[in-house]
Amino acid sequence: MYRETLEQRLPAVRERIAEAARRSGRGPDEVRIVAVVKGHPHAAAEAAVEAGLKDLGENRVETLAERVRSVGRHVCRWHMVGHLQSRKARDVFGITDLLHSVDSVRLAGRLGRAATEAGERLPVLVQVNVAGEESKYGFSPGEGVEAVHQVADEGGLQVRGLMTMAPLTDDEGEVRRTFSGLREIREAARRATGLELPELSMGMSNDYEIAVEEGSTMVRLGTALLGERPG
Ligand SMILES: *Cc1c(COP(=O)(O)O)cnc(C)c1O
Repeated sequence: MYRETLEQRLPAVRERIAEAARRSGRGPDEVRIVAVVKGHPHAAAEAAVEAGLKDLGENRVETLAERVRSVGRHVCRWHMVGHLQSRKARDVFGITDLLHSVDSVRLAGRLGRAATEAGERLPVLVQVNVAGEESKYGFSPGEGVEAVHQVADEGGLQVRGLMTMAPLTDDEGEVRRTFSGLREIREAARRATGLELPELSMGMSNDYEIAVEEGSTMVRLGTALLGERPG
């Protein structure tokens, strides 16, 4: 069933990403799809890999661990895209290729210590709550540049870029400002730190084309690829 769903949906999604990338003066290869398989059975994750998707994501570390165990550690790159409690910092090691959601100095500190002890270097993104929504995690826009500094100073962490989530709204202008806002924070952080910060993780099923137009390098897609989550 998931194989047919993906056969139907993936080519159109890829085409829309390619067109949006072109509108931003980039090639289709400059945007990666992270298939967020949360809420779907393992068959969905396996079908995603079979369909040629190379990056899969989960929003809870417990489900990520289960998923990696059942689907395989090295059949794709694994992304942790949701909030991680500081006390669970250790749990991402060994199962995560990119953690999108470093949203506090406390979490960064725990992750850094765990990475140093494990002798690993964990690639991470710094999450910024650009729109300032109460319900969302992340550093405030004003803290963004300093947060990149602080996270990068943690020995075991490699800051690859930034992540945000846009408000759920029909107001396209507000969504676009959220994404362009993250891009501007990235530029400021680049100047301040000298880090390359190549990745901007932004865009979900309902706003990924706008995100790509504004410079996204990773769209995190669940529903657009796999349909509504069951249950
Ligand atoms: C669930 C989730 C997504 C994907 O959501 P869709 O709207 O189904 O594309 C992306 N990012 C995060 C952080 C999520 O939790």
